Amino acid sequence: MHEGRDLLRMDEYNRPKTCEKCDGVMVFMGVGEYQCEDCGAIAYDDYGKVRLYIEGHRGATASQIEAATGVKQRAIRNMLKEGRLEVTADSKVFLHCVICKKEIRSGSMCPECEKNYHHRIEDEQRKMKNSMMQGFGAGREEKRGEKRFKFE
Ligand SMILES: [Zn+2]
Ligand SMILES: [Zn+2]
Repeated sequence: MHEGRDLLRMDEYNRPKTCEKCDGVMVFMGVGEYQCEDCGAIAYDDYGKVRLYIEGHRGATASQIEAATGVKQRAIRNMLKEGRLEVTADSKVFLHCVICKKEIRSGSMCPECEKNYHHRIEDEQRKMKNSMMQGFGAGREEKRGEKRFKFE
């Protein structure tokens, strides 16, 4: 399946893919927030962490944000450059969704396309989880087979 480079770039934000508590699939809730579909634990990607901090600390500098969130200043500047962070509410910036070309206020995708993008990651994560379980089963099967051929 073809994926645009702009889409893959979002992985730079350290998206949480599996739950730290139960290994469940983290589902995108919007604006950098994710929830485990199994246990309901909440986690944030770098964008979410920075956004949350700025909400509580208006006017914070990049170095203050870095100290508080652990997100590198370079990444914070990239978010600003890409419009992932809205600096002023009245700035007239016209961006277009990289997928459907709809006009958006910030980021690289409109909210609908961003949701779909995350759904695809979540699906892949579920498939990976399933194929890993199948893989373990198959591995045991193979070993048993090997033994039989070697020692009989
Ligand atoms: Zn969980
Ligand atoms: Zn779109």
